[in-house]
Amino acid sequence: MAMTKTDKIWMNGEFVAWDDAKIHVLSHVVHYGSSVFEGIRAYNTKKGPAIFRLGEHIERFINSAKIYRMQSKFTAEQIERACLDVVAVNKLTDCYLRPLIYRGYSHVGVNPIGTPVETMIAAFPWGKYLGEEAITKGVAVKIGTWARMAPNTLPAMAKAGGNYLNSQLLKLEAVEDKYEEAIALDTQGYVSEGSGENVFIVIKGELITPPVSSSILAGITRSSVMRIAKDLGYTVREAVIPREMLYIADEFFFTGTAVEVTPVTSVDRIPVGNGERGPVTKAIQDAFFGIVTGELPDRYGWLSHVPTGAAVRG
Ligand code: PMP
Repeated sequence: MAMTKTDKIWMNGEFVAWDDAKIHVLSHVVHYGSSVFEGIRAYNTKKGPAIFRLGEHIERFINSAKIYRMQSKFTAEQIERACLDVVAVNKLTDCYLRPLIYRGYSHVGVNPIGTPVETMIAAFPWGKYLGEEAITKGVAVKIGTWARMAPNTLPAMAKAGGNYLNSQLLKLEAVEDKYEEAIALDTQGYVSEGSGENVFIVIKGELITPPVSSSILAGITRSSVMRIAKDLGYTVREAVIPREMLYIADEFFFTGTAVEVTPVTSVDRIPVGNGERGPVTKAIQDAFFGIVTGELPDRYGWLSHVPTGAAVRG
């Protein structure tokens, strides 16, 4: 599916035309995967577009860069401001934001020291990641044959471009085998996460999700759902999950910026529960979508409203 172009992309502090936002083919990032990024959504609310948990996303962004000793020329505050601006300048409402910090063009050796550290932010419309129907009907997944990175190989907590080679292998396998998504186990054989989403299971009314030590990305939707679920009165636990627990769970769902909250209705062709979206998943979806779209009060302060009109720079 082709991307919908917008007008301008923010690159190193300036807005450039979408078609001019280019880098050299010998940039370090192209050869060695030296980038960290974020995926953020903005939703159209009654008070105009609002970015979901912008502060937390930019905090993780800066932390991912820190792990790889990449120092952006811009502060967290400047990057947050630029995210709001890029939505406003492109007159977007519902959209997806893609900030990236990467090592640019200077020399071709692996040693990253001395490469220029560049920062860019694009924003564009993006619909439901696994299709419109996935949110209500759910998706079919398999356990992938590729494991998530072992903790002493690549840091899973950094949202780094290179980690998505592992995600691509999982996704390719899923699509080729006619599943919507693949779940990776960690190198111990316990459930880790999907190619681009965290997992939750519901057993006897209790929510369980793998801990950070299971090689997961600490998802911001994951932490939002943990909070929402607790406030709805559910018990939420982070616990190591053996593969077979997925087969006998009452409910199973994904969380992530792209998938939002999406039910998983079968694993390895074994139906989860009765094979339909379950009531706990539905209750969490209702609260989550209510908050992000501004239909329910923003009781956690998760929305950053995009200033429009005179306040827009660029
Ligand atoms: N795990 C991986 C590997 C991901 O790429 C993502 C998407 N960023 C997630 C989990 C979910 O994280 P978040 O809820 O912050 O989007």
